[in-house]
Amino acid sequence: MKEIKSKILIIGSGPAGYSAAIYAARANLNPIMVQGIQPGGQLTITTDVENYPGFSEIIQGPWLMEEMKSQAEKVGCKIINDSIVNVDFSSKPFKVLGDSKTIYTSDSLILATGASAKWLGIKSERKYMGFGVSACATCDAFFYKKKHVAVVGGGNTAVEEALFLTRFASKVTLIHRRNELRADKILQDRLFSNKKIDIIWEHKVIEICGEDNPLLVNKLILSNTKTEQIKNIEIDGIFIAIGHIPNTSIFKGKLDLDDEGYILTKRGTCLTSINGVFAAGDVHDKIYRQAITAAGFGCMASLDAEKYLAEM
Ligand code: FAD
Ligand code: NAP
Repeated sequence: MKEIKSKILIIGSGPAGYSAAIYAARANLNPIMVQGIQPGGQLTITTDVENYPGFSEIIQGPWLMEEMKSQAEKVGCKIINDSIVNVDFSSKPFKVLGDSKTIYTSDSLILATGASAKWLGIKSERKYMGFGVSACATCDAFFYKKKHVAVVGGGNTAVEEALFLTRFASKVTLIHRRNELRADKILQDRLFSNKKIDIIWEHKVIEICGEDNPLLVNKLILSNTKTEQIKNIEIDGIFIAIGHIPNTSIFKGKLDLDDEGYILTKRGTCLTSINGVFAAGDVHDKIYRQAITAAGFGCMASLDAEKYLAEM
């Protein structure tokens, strides 16, 4: 079995992971990064990014992540295409196991595994996944040219997905469970002024209906969240954009998590409940969840790890 040793092992290759990698490499700590199944993280499934400082023109998420990768490699981070499937924090150096069966041993760890899309949890959602049900407009909007699609959610992701879909679909219906959105004001303004978009307030999707052969979606059954009155709408596809859950299943029982599964860190630092293990980005931050804050936390985690190693 192959073993790779390091002073700092970074798990995850989103903005948090890359930022941690850049700082650790520039501190001559020769960091190793394990990328995971989504190299570049969540920003690789979006298009326009206009709030990451340093760029006066709109940039593309996948491009930004490629730049971060190049920068991390240039300063000396070794990036490995593998996913971590098990962790052992009980002794030092820490041991983690890769899907490739590689064992990574490291004096310190930075956990930057981010978050993944949440689903509604109804049976028909699974049935039609990939056949009319999606969680990524950037990936699938192309298939809905001149069609009617629905987007579920009221946050920034839902509004951005709805706006993006108008480039392809003839009509976009946003379905939200409350009567106000939590998306940024600027996005709400764009949504409300887009003639292709209509909004169904105070409704939730209780069933996704369609045909079996071939599998395709043609109708949603909605329920009013106040009156429980049922309403049907005809659509060709549905995009679920209701937030994310932290990717922490492999850490469960190994360090302290909160009720929603986010890694708990010591206030003002990125230190977890295990000395020498640090967390950065959406995996521990359920408040800000932005590329810039994830990158900031990556920097903090790296500086915390550097201090820990110096004291060791
Ligand atoms: P992520 O980007 O989630 O990266 C997590 C990484 O961990 C991935 O590389 C994954 O492969 C890896 N990983 C997971 N599990 C394992 C494992 N077991 N082993 C190894 N690796 C693992 N923010 C903005 O500031 N501006 C925007 O315009 C913006 N647009 C967005 C659009 C969309 C559609 C979405 C979903 C989010 C958007 N965000 C935006 C939020 C932003 O993308 C996230 O806050 C940010 O990517 C979080 O970075 P992260 O490094 O913490 O984690
Ligand atoms: P979010 O802000 O948590 O919003 C999730 C939305 O889905 C909420 O409106 C929520 O309703 C709704 N929802 C949750 N569970 C639901 C369910 N079971 N059924 C129906 N509706 C449900 O998530 P997000 O929009 O993915 O954003 C995540 C983070 O990324 C945020 O911090 C956001 O700012 C950031 N982000 C930023 C940008 C940007 O800056 N341009 C773009 C995308 C994402 P309630 O409102 O009723 O809770």
